[in-house]
Amino acid sequence: MKKILLIATGGTIASVQTADGLMPGLDGKGLIEHVPELRNICHIDTMELMKLDSTNIQPEHWVQMARALEANYDKYDGFVISHGTDTMAFTSSALYYMLENLAKPVIITGSQLSLTEEGSDAPANLITAFTAAAKGRPGVYLAFYGRLIQGNTVKKLHTEQFYAFKSINVPEVAVLNHGELEFNPEYDQYLAQNPRHSSGSRLIIRDKLDTRVAVVDLIPGYKNEYITALVDAGCRGIVLNLYGAGGIPGTESPGNLLPAIDYAIAKGVKLLGATQCINDGVNMDRYEVGITALKHGVVSGGMLTSEAMVVKLMLELGEQPLSSNAPADRRTNHCK
Ligand code: ASP
Repeated sequence: MKKILLIATGGTIASVQTADGLMPGLDGKGLIEHVPELRNICHIDTMELMKLDSTNIQPEHWVQMARALEANYDKYDGFVISHGTDTMAFTSSALYYMLENLAKPVIITGSQLSLTEEGSDAPANLITAFTAAAKGRPGVYLAFYGRLIQGNTVKKLHTEQFYAFKSINVPEVAVLNHGELEFNPEYDQYLAQNPRHSSGSRLIIRDKLDTRVAVVDLIPGYKNEYITALVDAGCRGIVLNLYGAGGIPGTESPGNLLPAIDYAIAKGVKLLGATQCINDGVNMDRYEVGITALKHGVVSGGMLTSEAMVVKLMLELGEQPLSSNAPADRRTNHCK
């Protein structure tokens, strides 16, 4: 029987009703005890890493999760992380990029209703997660509503529905059918065309994150001063959530934002273009407003979700050697 470690971090799945509202209360053991069928899938040990509503999860918690995985890597065949759904897309993207050369499954799961609530989706999600962890396919995945999704393509689209997460621009990895995990051939085709970078066979934890990153949601009427204020506040990278295929209002518009873009670029701030649309990513080569943005230094984020871009940017900035644009005294916010 495969040995799987459950790393509990809190979330609705573990929540109990308190006088102040739902709060994580169950520990990992409590989760497993509520779903005895899990013991038929694999041998499970549990670890209490944190007990947080995922609203409270910060980049340093991603590092703690990665370090917990590393410390137990040789002892287990796979890992399940129970987590709140609200920031799950960030955590699953973070672990996807932070765990380099991962050769074991790391499955993140949670639920829309607490495990102790009647009709909860938690038991089914835990069964999907442990089945996937025991199956052994390496990588970071989300298990939810009987599906597996690649970690960096996860997006939460529903606050209430059980089918809450979608895989953005990449086919779902697998579905659970009568207890059997069926892998999706379209996902394998996608992987064959987009092989994952590997730097060797040893697990490497990338934990240098520069958290001085912000997301700007473009709206009609947006002011240059809002972007320059972020730059002046020490922001080192901005994900720009643009309209449609991606562009910046330029000289044709009374809301021309190119001066702020130029200011940010001149200060060494990295600007990534994302889209406010859910699907298909940005295509900044298509319209004049996109091409002009590229010419001014905005980098296209392509098909990535803005959650994945945020994490990539934090890692890229954290790992880049100190330059004149990033003086040492302004890089104190790293997660170690
Ligand atoms: N607020 C909760 C959390 O993210 C929501 C959930 O888990 O579904 O921790």
